[in-house]
Amino acid sequence: MSVQAASADRTALHAFLAAHQRFLLTTHVNPDGDAIGSEIAFARMLRAMGKDVRILNDSPTPHAFAWLAAHGPVEVYDETLAEACFAEADALVVLDTSNRQRIGRLAPHIGRHVISVAIVDHHATHDGFGQVNVVEPDCAAAAVLVFELMREAGIAIDPIAAEALYVGLSTDTGDFRYSNTDARALHMAAALVECGVHVSRVVQRVEQSAPAGRLRMHGEALAALELRSGGQLVVLEVGPEQFVRHGLVGADTEGLVDRPRSIEGVEAVALFSEVEAGKVKVSLRSTGRVAVDGVCSRHGGGGHVHAAGVQMRGTREQARERILPHLEQLLAELPPRPTEGAHA
Ligand code: AMP
Ligand code: MN
Ligand code: MN
Repeated sequence: MSVQAASADRTALHAFLAAHQRFLLTTHVNPDGDAIGSEIAFARMLRAMGKDVRILNDSPTPHAFAWLAAHGPVEVYDETLAEACFAEADALVVLDTSNRQRIGRLAPHIGRHVISVAIVDHHATHDGFGQVNVVEPDCAAAAVLVFELMREAGIAIDPIAAEALYVGLSTDTGDFRYSNTDARALHMAAALVECGVHVSRVVQRVEQSAPAGRLRMHGEALAALELRSGGQLVVLEVGPEQFVRHGLVGADTEGLVDRPRSIEGVEAVALFSEVEAGKVKVSLRSTGRVAVDGVCSRHGGGGHVHAAGVQMRGTREQARERILPHLEQLLAELPPRPTEGAHA
């Protein structure tokens, strides 16, 4: 996307915000820090403009972000509530996804109401189902877009919006360690600290909120990790029995797929997480050289070049058979790593 096209879309979005009054915000199923953080900040921007705002998501907010969602409030789908929200709103803004199916049970309500739709997202794979689509894959997080939109609109970023944006930015960049971490993300982090973010306080709230069972399950999965493709690929699995035994939900795999990045020589990590028998969530990560989004989009999923996912029906074994050969093929095609000491 050229810079010019992006700014035309942003101009259209500002006009969209000016033209509507009653906003409904949503995001993807199983929301992450970027999804919740972007919603909270966007809602604050709209309220500062004098607009009415509600936030409604398909799935509950993970415990780690509950303190942030309290500023929404972030409501969770039920059919009657959704009908009421859609009936009273004149505009829907979808954040951190541009894939209609990914907003889950809210999707069918769009067709049943007269409602304008705008999208604010940073995923490479997108349907662009809004009347206005601000989709910029070069942004490290949707929060980057929201931050820049707030500045363009001349809305002050108060400490709560700043914390929300910081959560989005830091979670989507793996605390500024993943390959999407760029100067723009780091400048934004500095600006947010100037707006009132206490970094250690945010980290404490987001990261020190896990139940002990989550670590035990991660420990089990890591103890059983498989090395394939001559050590370039790590495969992890978690099954329904483990979720039940540790009293956990799907969101408790958060962070697990990122752990094996620390193993020397690893190019990609695949996690096959089966919360419910017959439903497998595949998460793929690249440490920077191999593009993994195509492996997921081929099966109806998507994401970013270096972090992608897909939901599959069937057993873990079947999901592995569909995913791993393609991934191993991509790894086999990689040129050798530059020798140690060489700087490109
Ligand atoms: P995850 O592995 O769930 O952390 O997701 C990694 C990235 O891929 C995130 O940017 C997600 O939004 C995206 N993603 C995950 N699952 C899907 C899916 N079923 N369809 C499209 N994108 C997905
Ligand atoms: Mn997200
Ligand atoms: Mn995101």
